Amino acid sequence: MSETKKMAVSPAIQVGGSLFTPQQLADIGNAAGPEAKIEMTSFKQLYVEVPVEKHDAVKEALERSGLEVNPAGFVTKSLIACNFCKGAEEAGLETARMLNQAIAGLATPTPVKVGYAGCALGTSEPLLKDIGVVKMRDTFDIYVGGEPKGLKAGLAKLLVSGLSGARLVPVITKLIDYYRENAKGKEKFSKFVDRITIEQLKQQVSE
Ligand code: SF4
Repeated sequence: MSETKKMAVSPAIQVGGSLFTPQQLADIGNAAGPEAKIEMTSFKQLYVEVPVEKHDAVKEALERSGLEVNPAGFVTKSLIACNFCKGAEEAGLETARMLNQAIAGLATPTPVKVGYAGCALGTSEPLLKDIGVVKMRDTFDIYVGGEPKGLKAGLAKLLVSGLSGARLVPVITKLIDYYRENAKGKEKFSKFVDRITIEQLKQQVSE
């Protein structure tokens, strides 16, 4: 294959979770072509690698098919959401969609994963993500600095609780901006949280 470029493909945030329709899977195969590499990542995105010159046309075809296409690599991944088993309203589907739209694909010093759970059962494992959002009745709690890998794996710590739906997107984008502006080189998000401290981050996002 000539020079290639990867794109990150995911279905819409929806009740039922990461559901592809059979037509969407066929569209991915048809648009990407027989030479493409398609990888299932651990963060609910398919990486589709195609020749650079085909990239934009494939992206457009997949978007027409109702799929979301974001850059791969050092960016905020699309929201890793739960299955909304308690229903769209109770689990906060619209808020999760708005959050996904605001954060997916932002360039960051290292890849950032944001998890979302529609209730405290947290079946999407939000405390193992860089940033975890948990809906608690009518408000949201935000956790930061989860680290699922290595021998020093650890759970994210509570940053803010009782946040309204309207404040959720501004606070999380502020947090990501602060990381982008203040990370030391390719400092991982969890290390950044440890260095900056939860107290200082709290102050930053509340200003
Ligand atoms: S986090 Fe709660 S609402 Fe979401 S799928 Fe799990 S149990 Fe259902």
